[in-house]
Amino acid sequence: MARYTGAKCKLCRREGMKLFLKGERCYSSSCAIERRPYGPGEHGRRRGRKPSDYKLQLREKQKVRAIYGVLERQFRLYFAEANRRKGATGENLFNLLEKRLDNVIYRLGFAPSRASARQLIRHKHVLINGDVCDIPSRQVRVGEVLAIRAKSQNVPQVVQSLKDNAKRDRLPFVEADVKKLEGRLLAEPQLSDLPIPIQENLIVELYSK
Ligand code: SF4
Repeated sequence: MARYTGAKCKLCRREGMKLFLKGERCYSSSCAIERRPYGPGEHGRRRGRKPSDYKLQLREKQKVRAIYGVLERQFRLYFAEANRRKGATGENLFNLLEKRLDNVIYRLGFAPSRASARQLIRHKHVLINGDVCDIPSRQVRVGEVLAIRAKSQNVPQVVQSLKDNAKRDRLPFVEADVKKLEGRLLAEPQLSDLPIPIQENLIVELYSK
């Protein structure tokens, strides 16, 4: 599946907040938001007019796409599936995004970022219930055991991520055993559990036009 390959810090600067796309660097003084807390590009410092409703909706959607590393076409498919399911569309959308395998590996603290988790998965370092899975978008089910393969436990991304774990938010819906490099999803992820403020209603309004 295609992925965004452009500058990641630019995405944070455009949204005016840390989206934690680069792992260790995001927690250091080298973070671009700390050094240049204004939008990217020639007009980044310009004080704009009051944003329109459309702009607010668009920015919220782009922010969420950037966080989960999902391109527009795939994001629309997630939205369509969320809309098809019973319950609140916004909640369903985040449930689908949070249960992506790359996201769960990141949430468990086995990779410093979702991009890095995706690479670990593509390189076959990740097991689900003992079997290799190399599909980053695979939906993880509650109770499935995710693990880093025994022979992959010294991969630099994994080692670095374990070092940085103390700086990361602990989420109630995942449980990790860092010694065994194993973990699982304990419950269905809820929007209210997420550490970054998200206005899912703006995304629903945008796609419901
Ligand atoms: Fe965003 Fe991380 Fe870059 Fe900071 S270092 S701007 S949080 S991607």
